[in-house]
Amino acid sequence: MQNKIWLKAYAYTTLIMFIAALVFSIKLHAEVNSENKNMKEMPLPFDPEQSMKYLKEICDIGTRISGSEGIIKQRILIKKHFEALGAKVIEQEFKAIQKSTGRPTPMVNMIITWHPTARERVILCSHFDTRPFADQETDPKKRKGTFISANDGASGVALLMEMGRHMKNLNCNIGVDFVFFDGEEFVFDPDDEYFFGSKHFAREARKNTQAIKYRSAVLLDMVAGKDAKFPIEQNSWWKAGPIVREVWSTANQLKIESFKLNEFSRVAVEDDHTALNNGGIPAIDIIDFDYKHWHKLSDTPEQCSGETMAGVAKVLGSWIQRQH
Ligand SMILES: [Zn+2]
Repeated sequence: MQNKIWLKAYAYTTLIMFIAALVFSIKLHAEVNSENKNMKEMPLPFDPEQSMKYLKEICDIGTRISGSEGIIKQRILIKKHFEALGAKVIEQEFKAIQKSTGRPTPMVNMIITWHPTARERVILCSHFDTRPFADQETDPKKRKGTFISANDGASGVALLMEMGRHMKNLNCNIGVDFVFFDGEEFVFDPDDEYFFGSKHFAREARKNTQAIKYRSAVLLDMVAGKDAKFPIEQNSWWKAGPIVREVWSTANQLKIESFKLNEFSRVAVEDDHTALNNGGIPAIDIIDFDYKHWHKLSDTPEQCSGETMAGVAKVLGSWIQRQH
């Protein structure tokens, strides 16, 4: 993910004006939602310890850079896990040429499909590749160290692996796809291109709207940090406000305190949700952008918490059951 500092000043000037309107509309939405509450809604029985086991298992592979042995190992692990749970797993292969490397790199998005026959679908997604080096380390020696990216990469996958164990028991009225994007971190130089996987996914989805209509997408990025905070990410609010209201009001109802109903993110974040929104799929980003270990060698499982993942997953579990 990258951020646009120049948007910061603009964002602050609009912040106060919108917070009031936002809080009011979210409270209203929460009240309406609780009145119309689906009586069959199941609380997600998410196991925090199990999610941490998955996160460690992924990190034990080592680096998972696009086109590497590591990411192939992770793909095998993901495919085996979800197929054993009864999901259909589609591997969407493509090649991408990064400006700074100039050669084609094979990439694969993974699409985990629940209720595959439903045309109306929602997406829960994250990237599953890791950055080639820890670019936030100032010491050049550290930059060459092994960067396993526990929160920024493994957390979204681990959360959805644990959530997947309970998908068959949820009362979903629509189809759900878990999508893992390749090529989000395949960046060597500041001028390089971002978001290969999500751009490719959105392009392919556009060709197939007769069979599948994606209503909305929720992107997960750095969702496992200890004491994580999830303010409303600014671009999500501008591009897909109704989904923000649904998700943050659900968190408010479930009393998941990591979600900050009255705060916007400090910066407008460019992430895979940008590519989806540009491609016609309304998408939001749940992201802890103040994670201290972002793109540092210290982004390890010790900095992560199964409880943080459980909070996010419970919100998603309720949200997907409220889609009709
Ligand atoms: Zn990253």
